[in-house]
Amino acid sequence: MRYLDEYRDSSLARPLIADIGRRVTRPWVLMEICGGQTHTLMRYGIDELLPRQVELVHGPGCPVCPLEVIDKALAIASLPNVTLVSYGDMLRVPGSSTDLFNIKAGGGDVRVAYSPMEAVKIARANPTRRVVFLGIGFETTAPANAMAVWQASREGLRNFAMLASQVLVPPAIRMLLESPAHRVQGFIAPGHVCTVMGVEEYVALSRDFRVPIVVGGFEPVDLLEAISMLVAQLEAGHAEVENQYARSVAREGNRPAQEIMAKVFEVCDRTWRGIGTIPRSGLRLRAEFSAFDAEEVFDVAALHAEEPAECISALVLQGLKKPTDCSAFGVRCTPACPLGAPMVSAEGACAAYYQYRRPPA
Ligand code: SF4
Repeated sequence: MRYLDEYRDSSLARPLIADIGRRVTRPWVLMEICGGQTHTLMRYGIDELLPRQVELVHGPGCPVCPLEVIDKALAIASLPNVTLVSYGDMLRVPGSSTDLFNIKAGGGDVRVAYSPMEAVKIARANPTRRVVFLGIGFETTAPANAMAVWQASREGLRNFAMLASQVLVPPAIRMLLESPAHRVQGFIAPGHVCTVMGVEEYVALSRDFRVPIVVGGFEPVDLLEAISMLVAQLEAGHAEVENQYARSVAREGNRPAQEIMAKVFEVCDRTWRGIGTIPRSGLRLRAEFSAFDAEEVFDVAALHAEEPAECISALVLQGLKKPTDCSAFGVRCTPACPLGAPMVSAEGACAAYYQYRRPPA
């Protein structure tokens, strides 16, 4: 398959590993941001193939939907006459006491969709039901979520609402770099996010903190190229933004996607699961779309939830600890019974270590 097979080709990967080995002269700590990248690194054993001087740590990734957002979705889905729609992987994400699968098993109308526009369609076809889409994710999912709200607004579909938990990557990187404890010297930026947003925000981060950033893809050769580019910059004392994922990412990103996001959403503070509140790191619906904001429609905005105290995910997601440093890893915390965000999500760092780095029983 074009743009896939050649990026999994070991005859291309081996020279890149050798190249990194030739370049590196001292220890470097690199962080990938996206959980999809974490899983590729673990699945293909890239961390174990690199020279020992190159340490990979794992960033906030995809498991960022706060516990309280899941609890809000559960509360809404439990109401009569409500249809809650979301992506399939959200159904198994546990809230404080249950998950959406259990709500569905108990008779709740919880449906899986591949796009938020499917929820708009359901609302259109069922005017007597209140239809809520659980819209979460990075900048990658925001344009489609914005379009769904925009379309519902245009049609006057007042039985449609969105429970939005959108997060933005650059403020999270800035928070990491501002922490006195941070030890990351180079970042692999998420290629899918940059496909939407472009690279300008990363140029500002690289300049402000003198840190090299390479926009990377998701296949093994992508990630090895990105690591090689980072090591080359670090060894040369450079701090620039480079684009390894040029087959998808344009410098300015996807302008129409950015425009629909800006029409429907505005920047807000956002809670990151396991990390806490990061200023101006999220998106919420603009006031003119409040009739479609599920938090307001269903009055769940004040609902709060506490993360389990045993979970060290805040340290894992900042690259300060590895999942295997956690005393609960693989014992009291497993994918079937997760305690924290990085084990909840299939793309979380703890789930990746559980799948690919768990010591034999
Ligand atoms: S293994 Fe579980 S409890 Fe430990 S940091 Fe990861 S998610 Fe949290």
